[in-house]
Amino acid sequence: MSNYTCRKCKAKLRANEAYEYRGAISCEEHFDEVIEMRDFERNQIIQEEHSKTKIFKGLDLTDSVIGKANQALLKPRIEVASKESQRLKNYEDR
Ligand SMILES: [Zn+2]
Repeated sequence: MSNYTCRKCKAKLRANEAYEYRGAISCEEHFDEVIEMRDFERNQIIQEEHSKTKIFKGLDLTDSVIGKANQALLKPRIEVASKESQRLKNYEDR
């Protein structure tokens, strides 16, 4: 039993038949499509990340009095954003 499955057609592949792009496996026939799917996924994650961190832009998040108040106010969101960066990192490592 092989561990390789084409992402597109779900065909089971032997190691010598499997192609890989950024951790995504494809058969010979679907390599181009799998690359597209993979890049699409990646762009989506990046875009989601971007919209989550956008709110911090232009905000004072330094150690000034205002910055500290902002940090306290946005703490939950900052935590979400750093978790999401972890998500992208996991994706890249996969
Ligand atoms: Zn396939």
